[in-house]
Amino acid sequence: MPHPATITCNGRDYCWPSAPTVVICIDGSEPGYIEATIEAGRAPTFARFMRDGANLIGESAIPSFTNPNNLSIITGRPPSVHGIAGNFFFDPATGTEVMMNDPKFLRSPTILRAFHDAGAKVAMVTAKDKLRLLLSHGLDFGPGRAIAFSSEKADTATVRDNGMDQILGSVGLPLPEVYSADLSEFVFAAGVKLLATFRPDLMYLSTTDYIQHKTGPGTKIANDFYAMIDRYLASMDALGAIIVATADHGMNDKHKADGSPEVIYLQSLLDDWLGIGIGRVILPITDPYVAHHGALGSFATVYLPATANVEAIANRLRPIAGVDLVLTRAEACNRFELPPDRIGDLVVLSGKHMTLGTSVARHDLSGLDEPLRSHGGLEEQRVPMLANRKVTIPAGHTLRNYDVFDVALNRVV
Ligand SMILES: [Zn+2]
Repeated sequence: MPHPATITCNGRDYCWPSAPTVVICIDGSEPGYIEATIEAGRAPTFARFMRDGANLIGESAIPSFTNPNNLSIITGRPPSVHGIAGNFFFDPATGTEVMMNDPKFLRSPTILRAFHDAGAKVAMVTAKDKLRLLLSHGLDFGPGRAIAFSSEKADTATVRDNGMDQILGSVGLPLPEVYSADLSEFVFAAGVKLLATFRPDLMYLSTTDYIQHKTGPGTKIANDFYAMIDRYLASMDALGAIIVATADHGMNDKHKADGSPEVIYLQSLLDDWLGIGIGRVILPITDPYVAHHGALGSFATVYLPATANVEAIANRLRPIAGVDLVLTRAEACNRFELPPDRIGDLVVLSGKHMTLGTSVARHDLSGLDEPLRSHGGLEEQRVPMLANRKVTIPAGHTLRNYDVFDVALNRVV
């Protein structure tokens, strides 16, 4: 069937795939994990990609959280364009925190959809179901057109809603636990199966950072995880795919020497300064799956009443040990390309080993069975971008993780 030579999506042009093209987001893949697994002799495919293909570093969108970055990757644009600046925003008109996992909050089409609309076969597999609707928005699941599902809900996928059913039998794995490495393995196993049978022109795979929250690079658990990924990459490579992998964000230790979390409780501070509940701290990392991070990350946004002296409060927050940056809404939206209507009066980022919380009582840390590792700030912005082919990046271009489709479709030599 004839197809256009290029597709335009959100103001960027993408060449039609010359071979099945797989873009992978390895959630929480701080630089160092892959290298350590290679060093242990357990990632020969990654080693080959890095040697014979591309081994680059890019910057994530801020906040360095999962949803904003997955949406940036799949739209090719920062949150100011697609609108997803976190898992939550605060609606001052109703005084409620609004969860942004519904496609109605998405302000731009996805690259998958743009290719799909032009006749390409596309596929998407994500670990957690929370991202599925956003990432697969606009796809038509008519016969042979598109397949999109999550590992988490693979057992209930239907032809009507996901383009495929009987997924467990087809992939050959049992339904994985939500909090497990298996949830990500299922993504890769499904990706290999889809590549071999459905043969999508373009496929996006997105894992979960369960392992990276648990342990840093070089441990047996981390190496086991990346060795598992390595095996599936080898299979996809053998099937002739162009593969480019990046991450949504990095990951750092955010705990004290005794293993307890390092936290600045911002709501408690504001309550002391302004009165109870006058200021409102929103932690956009908060979601229904908080067990592995206790809703503690390195990015917060603060809503203040119209009467508040925003600059004065910013100046009180800035000297606090562990606070990396305090910006007004305008400064933050300008610097990080954020949507102003979904950001508070202030944006606060904490440093490499510090997190931001609301108040002690409002964080359930009972699910934290390891010392806290988390993300959200500038220190988790550097992520790998690896490919199984050589790529050329224009001189002077600051590579972003959300250039990954551009790299896969336009920059492969
Ligand atoms: Zn993530």
